[in-house]
Amino acid sequence: MSDRVLRLSDTMTNRLRPVAPVQSGHFRFYSCGPTVYSYAHIGNFRTFLTADLLYRTCERLGWKVSYVSNITDVGHLTQDDMADAAGEDKMAKALRSKEGERFANIWDLAEHYADAFKADWMRMNLRKPLVWPKATQHMREQILAIEKLIQTGHAYETPTGVYFDVSSFPEYGKLSNNRDQERLLRAVRNIVTDENKRHPADFALWKKDDKHLMQWYSPWGWGFPGWHIECSVMAMQYLGETIDLHAGGEDLIFPHHECEIAQSESLTGKTFANTWIHTRFLQVDGEKMSKSKGNFYTVRDLVDGERVDPLALRYALITVPYGKPLNFTRQTLRDAAQNVDRFRECARLAEAAKARGAKGASAGFAESLRQLADEMLEAMCDDLNTSVALAKALGGTSVIFKAGDSMTADDAPAALAFLDEVQALLGIVRPEQAGVQAPSAPPVDEERIEALLAERAAAKKARDFAKADAIRDQLEAEGIELRDTPAGTLWRFKTTP
Ligand code: AMP
Ligand code: ZN
Repeated sequence: MSDRVLRLSDTMTNRLRPVAPVQSGHFRFYSCGPTVYSYAHIGNFRTFLTADLLYRTCERLGWKVSYVSNITDVGHLTQDDMADAAGEDKMAKALRSKEGERFANIWDLAEHYADAFKADWMRMNLRKPLVWPKATQHMREQILAIEKLIQTGHAYETPTGVYFDVSSFPEYGKLSNNRDQERLLRAVRNIVTDENKRHPADFALWKKDDKHLMQWYSPWGWGFPGWHIECSVMAMQYLGETIDLHAGGEDLIFPHHECEIAQSESLTGKTFANTWIHTRFLQVDGEKMSKSKGNFYTVRDLVDGERVDPLALRYALITVPYGKPLNFTRQTLRDAAQNVDRFRECARLAEAAKARGAKGASAGFAESLRQLADEMLEAMCDDLNTSVALAKALGGTSVIFKAGDSMTADDAPAALAFLDEVQALLGIVRPEQAGVQAPSAPPVDEERIEALLAERAAAKKARDFAKADAIRDQLEAEGIELRDTPAGTLWRFKTTP
């Protein structure tokens, strides 16, 4: 195990704090996943990437990692962020929309978007969590938890549902700093959706509704759970009563995470999560991403629709550390694609060096790459500072490019080890899911390309440069780029969007 210290910006204490597993060497964390009423957008993925980078960093520190990320498929209401529990279930609203017409029912819609989300997750090179628990598959556990909260005086029933009594948990507001009444009332905007609620900030644990498209029978009749209870229940079920860390996007600090704390800590009397981290929002062209502004992108809009390399998208989304807002632009994506290409090119150079077999290690080559890999991990331990880590990774590519075609076979392993290190920590060198290729690399007839390259080489030898150039232009038009090296002509697909 490494003696390096991982430090993260803890939302609870508002401090950069050392983070380590409570159970020796085993880090357990939870990150809130998507509500599957639509395809996840690149902002959601920025938040999921934070969890992925944390996972990778913990692994590099030698810890075993248990990571759980839920799938919300019931109970998240359209106005949950404004007032509890107002609005309509997002899932039901999606079914009534134009896009909803293609689904047989709400379960069908939930399954479709959950499957699409997992597919996007995998091609963005995100590590698979231990489990992706669904709210609808943990109904018994949620009902039991609510019953216990009622029995212990933390919750009460009204004609419309069951509510958590915030006055029963004096620490309510400790995460979001909404501790005094005035702030709390401002945060919940004083909107009372159920006049039997004792306090406007009391939040729904269960909504009575025998018309809801997804409903379960409970001690309080037919209905469905509030949004917050699923995360408390599923985090504790899979990871234990006190977890090392809980993560999510910045909009979840209040009310979602505040409510999770109130529920969990009232149930167990123990600290729910030792550290909390929140990813700042992704903006597009300096503005909030929204469908009406036309700057709203899902992963599939870019990857399937525009053939953007998922690795380039991943790179673009991690250029700025999670604690700062990221402004996503087309230029960020173009630069990212070029940088991702550098790693591919470095791998090709190292493989070519191995094949050439030239002997002799170059002075300082392996050592500078080792040093840069070390600094990359150091940057990630410094509050997941991806901008410094990426600079170190690119620094390594410059070292490899400098060696270029004169790299020896003895230097090649150090270059490849460096790329493996970049891959393990940042996941931007190659796809990790079997069978995933950059979308800009469609199935190719390699034999035909090789034959054209041989024809071009012959034309050059015969000093028929017009013909050689014509072959290059033909391949260029097909999106194939050529590079003449002492080891022969190399080809690749252009990946820049
Ligand atoms: P949702 O599907 O709305 O429940 O969101 C899933 C996750 O994505 C949550 O952790 C949100 O905080 C996060 N999220 C939503 N919008 C953005 C955004 N624009 N940038 C970063 N994270 C976001
Ligand atoms: Zn959650």
